[in-house]
Amino acid sequence: MKKDLKTLSFPELEKLLEEMGEKSYHAKQLAIWIWQRGITDFAQATDISKPCRNKLAERYYVSEISLTTTRMAKDNSCKYVFRLSDRLEIESVLIPEQDRLTLCISTQVGCRQGCRFCLTARMGFVRNLLIHEIVDQVLQVKKRLPSDKKNLNIVLMGMGEPLDNYQNTIQAIRLISSPLGLNISPRRITLSTAGLVPQLYQLQKEKLGVNLAVSINAPSDTIRNTLMPINRQYNLESVFQALRDFPLPSRQKISIEYILIGGVNDSPEAARQLRRGLRGIPCKVNLIPYNPDPSLPYNECSELCLEQFQEILRGYDLTVTVRRSKGRDIGAACGQLGYYCFQQYLKKIQYK
Ligand code: SF4
Repeated sequence: MKKDLKTLSFPELEKLLEEMGEKSYHAKQLAIWIWQRGITDFAQATDISKPCRNKLAERYYVSEISLTTTRMAKDNSCKYVFRLSDRLEIESVLIPEQDRLTLCISTQVGCRQGCRFCLTARMGFVRNLLIHEIVDQVLQVKKRLPSDKKNLNIVLMGMGEPLDNYQNTIQAIRLISSPLGLNISPRRITLSTAGLVPQLYQLQKEKLGVNLAVSINAPSDTIRNTLMPINRQYNLESVFQALRDFPLPSRQKISIEYILIGGVNDSPEAARQLRRGLRGIPCKVNLIPYNPDPSLPYNECSELCLEQFQEILRGYDLTVTVRRSKGRDIGAACGQLGYYCFQQYLKKIQYK
């Protein structure tokens, strides 16, 4: 049985080459061929000797998650559906913004957090993604972009809770940002979490240098308990305290993600209460108008409520932006990933 070279860390790759009697510096060349040029055939690694390539090919292969579908939304965001080696599917979304491209990637198949406003939650938890499955989403999309558009921002906000797949997510981020990996600056990477408090403290020690976004979505425990079951385990104050304790480089701010749901968390009082909770946290607030879906019991927030909410927070000197979720028409908007594909997958296995 051949092994997948993408599952090896860089030190393991060096060790392998030494064991094969080859120079360990070939590890650096190989890593760049695999993670920056995206080769899957050792024959393409032309600066490595032929005997070395042949020896590698006898025992190893280079895997690739396979792109099955690409769907373009009216607003030009693009959803990529990838098939994994066990035939499960994951989704990533490329979002064009004024002067940049942002790629939202997944860290799990499904999710166990059960947020009530999220369709991915309805899939339940299927499995964690492996390190190379997380990284490969970036590689596969990058390979398909024109050369002048390869400067991607990466957000780990797709299917799954990144900190629930802690070790693989951390290693994947290290590989995405390493010069021997995809060489994307950590400042262009944002890790998003629903607020897993112990992991937030653990994250402080990793020194990843990435941006942090935390999905808050409610001004009080009473409301957050109804929207995000995780709040019963780690309440709002414990999340806020973890954010106050989070060491940040000067001028960097934590993004507070807040999905505005009509009649649930969008009142002026909710805005004032949110501001009180955020005291002492170096942050900016990202308001995301909720995407209604017929299968979920929530409504859109009105433009008036959105404006009032924003004005109240700005009155307290907070930086507030509104992020209108893109890709609604192709099931690629915030909280929609994976669900429709998974329904089709269930149907397929039912008819087999
Ligand atoms: S919003 Fe994020 S954390 Fe919550 S269920 Fe959906 S994917 Fe999971």
